[in-house]
Amino acid sequence: MLIVKKFGGSSVADKERIFNVAERCIEDYRKGHDVIVVLSAMGKTTDQLIAKAEDINPLAPKREMDMLLATGEQVSVALMAMAMNSLGVPAVSLNAFQVQMHTTSTYSNSRFKRIDSERIRHELDNRRIVIITGFQGINKYDDYTTLGRGGSDTTAVALAAALHADACEIYTDVEGVYTADPRVVPNARKMKEISYDEMLELASLGAKVLHNRSVEMAKKYGVQLVVRSSLNRAPGTVVKEAVKMERMLVSGVAVDKNTARISVIGLTDEPGIAFKLFSLIAKSKINVDMILQSVGRDGTKDISFTIPRGDVREALDILEDNKNRITAQKIECEENIAKVSVVGAGMASNPGVAAKMFEALYNVGINIKMISTSEIRVSVIVDSKDADKAMQAAHDSFGLED
Ligand code: ADP
Ligand code: ASP
Ligand code: MG
Repeated sequence: MLIVKKFGGSSVADKERIFNVAERCIEDYRKGHDVIVVLSAMGKTTDQLIAKAEDINPLAPKREMDMLLATGEQVSVALMAMAMNSLGVPAVSLNAFQVQMHTTSTYSNSRFKRIDSERIRHELDNRRIVIITGFQGINKYDDYTTLGRGGSDTTAVALAAALHADACEIYTDVEGVYTADPRVVPNARKMKEISYDEMLELASLGAKVLHNRSVEMAKKYGVQLVVRSSLNRAPGTVVKEAVKMERMLVSGVAVDKNTARISVIGLTDEPGIAFKLFSLIAKSKINVDMILQSVGRDGTKDISFTIPRGDVREALDILEDNKNRITAQKIECEENIAKVSVVGAGMASNPGVAAKMFEALYNVGINIKMISTSEIRVSVIVDSKDADKAMQAAHDSFGLED
């Protein structure tokens, strides 16, 4: 069997954890399997590198950010290879250049285009454990790129797809995918299985247990994933197609604290204004999430929308520069907000999910600032300070407790 095993930052945070991971990988190797290990940077390394960069230059070029961040994963893979070697097992570490993991050219949020398998196959054929840097790639300029925060999961899935692995195991610091973040909602329940679609929604809506692109890619290439703990042997959660289980109305709740709302006030109520506004934002490659337009009154209207918090400065600059063009009287920004979402394939055919969620929030005195829905989710914007309480209340109101 060919097995891809991915370990996140906390699973390789110190010497003891590195040896713990080494031993778990060696177990599979000794059974005769081919083993590819994908690692994240140790502990909070990536955060620390970002803080260092901000101290030197808060507007650092994205290319240099990727050059910097790519170092984190390189430390983990080299140390892991050393650990395995010290245990008498042949292992080799490889980075994105050595493997040739090609991505799109954009920095800080790039996507895989093509992964060469030759070098990896060669090392596996020589009975080595192959340890590969997560999160990084190379682009057509031969520069390092990164896949966005949490992107090592996507490296693991991409490798599993490219090499037709028999298993792709994502090891982390919780025992699997839960009905809500178990660190915030202590009575959250671990799911045995979850479908790609539901997992994709949860991941995209802030449940960082899996990088959303990893789920997208797993679905596209039919890579079945197992999410489980690196610290114990509990069975974990299987992420796969068409789950044959009783259809829960709601399968999980997620919170995204990395969001901000921009309100553009006093726009002329005429055709083309929304187009002008959002094409400006789109040109800067900023992702707009929720959009709310007020009813026109006295010839003017307001448009509010949410974007990732990291893009606020850029968005405000563009809008201020084009204030007259889009006919805005005032531009406001609110950063202390969070998005709370309930997700479930079962809600497509069941009315009343939104009402039930709003009731749960009302019962704990939380005000809703914006609402959006799709076939399989309901999302609301609330004050950041209410986010965890809202997640707990929504979670319990749908009977998701353990
Ligand atoms: P890693 O470093 O292993 O990639 P992450 O910190 O990226 O780990 O993801 C694991 C974390 O995801 C958990 O510690 C947990 O707090 C958080 N999380 C958020 N939502 C969920 C959920 N629904 N199920 C499990 N974990 C979740
Ligand atoms: N080290 C990167 C991050 O912290 C990638 C990852 O952990 O998946 O975002
Ligand atoms: Mg992660």
